[in-house]
Amino acid sequence: MTERPFISFHRPSIDEAEIQAVAETLRSGWLTTGPRTAQFEQEFRDYVQAPQALAVNSCTAGLHLALAALGVGPGDEVITSPLTFCATVNCIHHVGATPVLADIDAAGNLDPGSVADRITDRTRAVIPVHFAGLPCEMNTIWTLARQRGIHVVEDAAHAVGAHYRGNPIGAGNPANGDSSAAVAFSFYATKNLTTGEGGMITCHSAELADRMKVLCLHGISKDAWNRYSDKGNWYYEVVENGFKYNLSDIQSTIGIQQLRKQEQFLERRKKYADYYSSVLGSVDEVEIPREWDYCRHAWHLYVVRLELAALSISRGEFIEHLRQRGIGASVHFIPIYEHPCFADLALDIEKHCPTAVGMCPRLISLPLYPALTLEQVHYIASTVKEVAREYRRTRLFAAAG
Ligand SMILES: *Cc1c(COP(=O)(O)O)cnc(C)c1O
Repeated sequence: MTERPFISFHRPSIDEAEIQAVAETLRSGWLTTGPRTAQFEQEFRDYVQAPQALAVNSCTAGLHLALAALGVGPGDEVITSPLTFCATVNCIHHVGATPVLADIDAAGNLDPGSVADRITDRTRAVIPVHFAGLPCEMNTIWTLARQRGIHVVEDAAHAVGAHYRGNPIGAGNPANGDSSAAVAFSFYATKNLTTGEGGMITCHSAELADRMKVLCLHGISKDAWNRYSDKGNWYYEVVENGFKYNLSDIQSTIGIQQLRKQEQFLERRKKYADYYSSVLGSVDEVEIPREWDYCRHAWHLYVVRLELAALSISRGEFIEHLRQRGIGASVHFIPIYEHPCFADLALDIEKHCPTAVGMCPRLISLPLYPALTLEQVHYIASTVKEVAREYRRTRLFAAAG
């Protein structure tokens, strides 16, 4: 028997299309933000059906930019999920605001009921995270935000291509005009669409888009040039303390090519996820991810939950057994309140986030990406089943029988 090559947790899908396009951009002489970035913004805006899009160098930058441009700052509270990457919470700190954690629902998404419970007079914004690529219950969140006068900024790092009740994440609800203030996407190396590092922030307000554009590049405004006809196009004014968050044309070139393959990528992700669910759905020691028939799941991650009481091994041991059998599994996420940096958010966590506290220790992410072969997906599914069967707690029952 030949040794099976290790199946890594992630491998990006980059081929000659990206390589050729990047070579062309390099030869063009325009490397930083320019024509390719403008093209990427326009094509991405069309893809997610958002009126405005600004390319940024990460999703983290996009979230920070949105909160800053909305004027969220010291004294304000921002509600988000404990089941997210640290970036979501760091950005709240970066603008000087206070993060507040609300609980998740059975799918791992922010629970609107818990958000309502955590709103105070100081709440200025809520950041729902579309966990694993499954849209949050946005209609309820938008209604709540409208009633309570708070901004919604979506962390859509996992959700390129996801649809909520018929509309892409980023489009809002065209039927009643509800939408988030801003939506931040990630193009990090492991994400559904990658530019190596990168992100996009979409919004509906042209005014907010203009403000984010100025803040994105040092707070530089070119408007002054239009006002003073005696000055040349060398003239600019710094109008605010801005950041350096722009995306380069090299990265945008990769993004343009990746965007063209998104539907194909999504189809394959869904096929693999469906296969995992068809096999693991009947394994008692493993709970498969939720999905809703009124949403299109982006299937960024395939996250199962172990029934730890039915197993004789811990989550760490389960992951180690998969590794020994040639499979790289991971965990999304170590919940926010477990990190030393966010220790103050752990206070009363069982009271505020009981579902998260119960669910987070059970999570394991299996490899899910278009570069996997169907044969590898079959092997992963049968190996997870095998490990679960091997380490199930059945001895008591067997002895009794
Ligand atoms: C990856 C990720 C981010 C950060 O994205 P970057 O583009 O790396 O800044 C934010 N939130 C979530 C939920 C993520 O998974």
